[in-house]
Parts: sequence; structure tokens; C-alpha cells
Amino acid sequence: MRIAVYPGSFDPVHYGHLDIIERASTLFDKLVVAVVTNPKKKALFTREERVKMLNEAVSAYANVQVASFTGLTVNFTLKQQAQVVVRGLRAITDFDGEFVFALTNKKLAPELETVYLMTRAEYSFISSSTVKEVASYGGCVKEMVPSMVVEKLHKKYYDN
Ligand code: ADP
Repeated sequence: MRIAVYPGSFDPVHYGHLDIIERASTLFDKLVVAVVTNPKKKALFTREERVKMLNEAVSAYANVQVASFTGLTVNFTLKQQAQVVVRGLRAITDFDGEFVFALTNKKLAPELETVYLMTRAEYSFISSSTVKEVASYGGCVKEMVPSMVVEKLHKKYYDN
């Protein structure tokens, strides 16, 4: 069984992520989308909120599961008995970080492959930080995230 892990912050999940999930779900028997929690990185949404939004967003895909972890991606991936780590690539600016990520993974766990899927052109500009910035100033993000995420962002920024 070919199993892949797609790790990320997903703070919050957006259409760029969902496009990678949809495409990766056709390439592997099982895809585990994993929310990485890094105590040094300040997130807008809690781990539980991010997992919940992802679960809602991927409910249509029978072979996609949502999980979360702290620590090294390779350790989590091996624990899942997966052979592949999936990542998305947007612009050239993603490349440096992803290059180091993939080579470090290879050094730590040579049996794993890190596989990149190129963003779809219409989603290439979307990032969670852009979504948060636009939403925080009251801008419309409904073309970037599913409607339940629009509501959650609204609650975070305006329902206090
Ligand atoms: P971000 O906060 O930048 O959206 P994440 O850590 O949540 O980033 O991203 C997880 C993975 O999804 C990374 O491999 C990232 O490059 C990829 N990704 C993020 N946005 C997009 C997009 N618009 N299209 C394709 N891949 C993306």
C-alpha cells in the first residue's frame, strides 16, 4: 500500500492546499494530511481548530485522513508506515526552503522520498499568511478558502 504524508501548518487550510490534497489523493492509496505544530511558531488557529477545518474540507476524499504532530516530519512519516512526503511548490521563493527540507529528510531517512506537486496557476498566489492578512483587514477571501474557513476567520478577527 502506497501511503503519503502531506505536512504543513494549514493555518488555515486554503484552496492551494486542497488542490494538492485532491491531486495527491489520486496518486497514493492513502494520504495523511498532518498539521505540524511548532511551539516556536505563533499560529492564529489552535491545532484542534486546524485539524477540524481540514477534516471538514477533506470529508469527500475516502482515502484522506487528518492528523497532527510535533517534531520531525520523517519520524511521523515512518510511524505512519508511509514511503512518501508530499509538498506543494508555488513560486521560486518556496524552492530554497523546500530544497533544504527534502535533502534533510533524505539524510535522516534515506528510505523516504519527498515528492513535489506544482501549484495550479490560479492558486499560485495563495498562502495562509496572505489569507490572514486580507481577512484581518476585512477583505474578501472567499476565492481563497472554503466558506467554513471564511466564517472561522471572521469569528477570530471580529467576534470578540
Ligand atoms: P502556507 O502557510 O504558506 O500556506 P503551509 O505550511 O501550510 O504553508 O504549507 C504546506 C505545504 O503546502 C507546503 O509544501 C507549501 O508549499 C504548500 N502550499 C502552500 N500554499 C500552496 C499553494 N497555493 N499551492 C500549492 N502548494 C501550496
